[in-house]
Amino acid sequence: MMTTRFTLDAREIRQQFPFFQPHPEMRNLIYLDNAATTQKPYAVIEAVSNFWAYHNANVHRGGHGVGAKASELYEAARGRVARFINARETAEIVFTRGTTESINLVASSWGETFVQPGDELIVTEMEHHANLLPWMRLAEKRGARLVVWHITDSGTLELDQLRKLLSERTRLVAVSHISNVLGVINPVAEICRMAHEAGALCLVDAAQSIAHMPVDVQAIDCDFLAFSGHKAYGPTGIGVLYAKRALLEEMPPYHVGGGMVQTVRWDRLRWAEPPAKFEAGTPPIGEAVGLHAALDFIDSIGREAIAAYEHELTEYALARLQEVPGLRLYGPREGRTGIFAFTLEDIHPHDIATVLDSRDIAVRAGLHCAHPLSERLGGPTARASLAIYNDTDHIDALIDALHYTRKVFGYAG
Ligand code: PLP
Repeated sequence: MMTTRFTLDAREIRQQFPFFQPHPEMRNLIYLDNAATTQKPYAVIEAVSNFWAYHNANVHRGGHGVGAKASELYEAARGRVARFINARETAEIVFTRGTTESINLVASSWGETFVQPGDELIVTEMEHHANLLPWMRLAEKRGARLVVWHITDSGTLELDQLRKLLSERTRLVAVSHISNVLGVINPVAEICRMAHEAGALCLVDAAQSIAHMPVDVQAIDCDFLAFSGHKAYGPTGIGVLYAKRALLEEMPPYHVGGGMVQTVRWDRLRWAEPPAKFEAGTPPIGEAVGLHAALDFIDSIGREAIAAYEHELTEYALARLQEVPGLRLYGPREGRTGIFAFTLEDIHPHDIATVLDSRDIAVRAGLHCAHPLSERLGGPTARASLAIYNDTDHIDALIDALHYTRKVFGYAG
């Protein structure tokens, strides 16, 4: 077995999560489904609960103190997000329900306004449906062409390939920062640079990167970036769309209703300034407060430290997974994170997940909302994915349980 000195003590970090504490309703679960959603620290649960208990009011409406406080907390969360991703200004941060809604917003608002028949939209073969279906539907609606940037056999994207696909007709390149299946980290800054050189915009799906490595929108120079709170130790029901101010200025609203207009007359509508223009109706206020606490939690550990620790753990897992006979791991060996999609002999991935669950290990199995990619890989896979509270004991337990799974299905030693 490998002996590595690890830079963080995950056991200590687990102390900050009720999910990992003894409780009559809790199994002592090894949670390896973090790409689907992460567990929540006490700090987030308390921030949300505190908001509902003592500060609940609608935002940007009430003529009363509690409404002013709720608005202050909501806008403070926006400021926190802006600092977290290094946006130039808070107006570039639109709160949504999650990555899916953020990308749908761009496809509807920007796409249906600016994409013309004959234009091209480049998507990669490894996209989650959230960053694929909005573009497929937009292409269909607008008579545009969806251009697929295929992956290599080792599960990476080649920039030379992108160079060949870009043309004066390209309007947008949509790419995930980290694939939710292959775990590969894509060179998004380089991709955005190439898109810009061709006169196109670049959208980055940061759902799988936001909690695991530094994400700096100015360094990446993306035009749009989307992520979800719940994959970053925060609540469900809250997500972020970052967009450059100039784009938000020229994009029409996505939803219309309360809170997003300056003037409504029978003969004239004047939208509010961004980001309010894109936040019709009562927003997810308590959830934004929870997201604020989640980003504070992440930064209390430090994103460089998280990336370094998860890299060490990934290296450990990659070495140990190789010990399991008949295990096929997808994605590259280098330049990847702790998302491990695999098959084991010819055992159905759902059966693998069921046996692992019987050993108190939670993993996901299936097509991972990435059907074209899964088809390319040959079908469904099981997927174990890491977060900051996982450690080598968890990997060791997974490896033991995979050996056990082989035995259950009659594979020898
Ligand atoms: N993009 C990627 C890469 C994802 O992994 C996911 C969720 O798994 C999403 C988008 C969608 O996120 P949500 O369901 O929070 O909108």
